[in-house]
Amino acid sequence: MKKSIIDELVSIFGQENVLTDREDMIAYSYDAAPVEIEPEAVVFPTTTEQVSQLMKLAYREEIPVTPRGQGSGLSGGSIPLKQGIVLCMDRMNNVIEFDPANRLITVEAGLTTADIDPIVSEANLFYPPDPGSVAFSTIGGNVAENAGGLRGLKYGVTKDYVKMLKVVMPQGDIVTLGSKCVKHVAGFNSELMFVGSEGLLGVMTEVTLALLPIPQHRESALAIFNSLDGAAQAVSDIIAAGVTPSTMEFMDNATINAVQDFKDCGLPRDAEAVLLIETDGEENSSKAEMKIVQEQVAKNDLREFQLATTTDERDALFAGRRVALNALASVKPNLILEDATVKRSVLPEMVRGIIAIAKKHDIQVGIFGHAGDGNLHPTFLIDQADKEEMARCHKAVDELFQLAIDLDGTISGEHGIGLEKKPYLENQIGASGIKLLQDLKRMFDPKNLLNPGKMFDMPAESA
Ligand SMILES: Cc1cc2nc3c(=O)[nH]c(=O)nc-3n(C[C@H](O)[C@H](O)[C@H](O)COP(=O)(O)OP(=O)(O)OC[C@H]3O[C@@H](n4cnc5c(N)ncnc54)[C@H](O)[C@@H]3O)c2cc1C
Repeated sequence: MKKSIIDELVSIFGQENVLTDREDMIAYSYDAAPVEIEPEAVVFPTTTEQVSQLMKLAYREEIPVTPRGQGSGLSGGSIPLKQGIVLCMDRMNNVIEFDPANRLITVEAGLTTADIDPIVSEANLFYPPDPGSVAFSTIGGNVAENAGGLRGLKYGVTKDYVKMLKVVMPQGDIVTLGSKCVKHVAGFNSELMFVGSEGLLGVMTEVTLALLPIPQHRESALAIFNSLDGAAQAVSDIIAAGVTPSTMEFMDNATINAVQDFKDCGLPRDAEAVLLIETDGEENSSKAEMKIVQEQVAKNDLREFQLATTTDERDALFAGRRVALNALASVKPNLILEDATVKRSVLPEMVRGIIAIAKKHDIQVGIFGHAGDGNLHPTFLIDQADKEEMARCHKAVDELFQLAIDLDGTISGEHGIGLEKKPYLENQIGASGIKLLQDLKRMFDPKNLLNPGKMFDMPAESA
């Protein structure tokens, strides 16, 4: 990077908020997806105005800029594909306003997701989206990926809680979108354009989020099954019986054993699958709902039903699910984690299909995920150095996505497209869908400088 540009970056951000040394670039060259590309500089803004100045400089000098939260993304979204500057938002982490009367909180985009609940719980409120990465992901990253989580089934995902955004546009303009009112129809719902935009359309610097009252009571249980089909069918049956649990998480036998090898969470190694289920609300209604859950699982090859009676027991039930990804990651040198999603009614077919695909291509797979949302995380366990295994794995991934599309599902429920799923997007949304995204990108970012090369190619890039 030219010295004059580095000098300008230092004058905008201060020396302590600019990195250009080669060894410092390594930490910003990857996220949780298996790709690495080093940027030429990393900057850490502390104000929206600095982000605006950076975008004006980048536009003038035609330098690619890649926004980054904590780099926990699973689709390669924060990898600086065209190098240039990584705009790391994690030092913009202040709470701007907590407004309990209106059940709102306004935060800077770099705040860690888990930092919200301790503040708002004093007013008996909570922020429902809870991705497995809640302890380290940022709110800006959650909005950019429309992150889901363990409570998505009953409480929805990030988009359901975004009320207002402050966004710096690719040419440096600062816009404030949305409203703090319960109802708001003045103009397009343009704040939602940025939810799931994966850092391609603008840089979010402030986010106003809706909050909900903490449920009075929770019932938590672990259902242990003798068959995979039984667990998958139980998910459909519970929903069909009229219950919407706040959590319904699935782990198959391979995941159970990986968890037990990683940390003893008391899971039965010989069970084919488990469901972790939680109902919440008023005490009587959540207990009544859990009773219906118990009746439904009992019909589906159930081996055992463990109901937590204390908070410690509940935490113990959740511990295995929380470490599932880390546990699978320790089985082989690498993993490819997918998040193909289907309607809940076809979950048994999806689970059977994934296992058949893994068997056909002789690839180890562990399946866990948000079964209540139809959002599974089939995780292929591989060694990237083994080229032959990688080729088989890529075929398995291709077939997995085709299966999801054939079952009227989607190639991503919550991890986004980024780099990892870019080759599959056109299959999902068609050529006209890609053209619409290209047209929108061109309108927002005429020089294609913000996170270029992600999600889809612009026509010049394809050429
Ligand atoms: C162990 C583990 C568990 C996970 N569990 C879940 C889960 O349950 N549900 C789920 O949905 N995801 C999950 N994830 C994925 C990941 O944590 C989420 O996608 C999260 O939202 C990413 O946040 P981040 O701050 O790390 O963003 P990053 O990874 O840094 O960035 C993600 C994308 O957002 C863009 N971006 C970041 N900040 C901004 C901003 N301020 N303005 C504009 N664009 C921005 C980046 O350019 C990039 O495209 C998990 C990841 C891990 C490692």
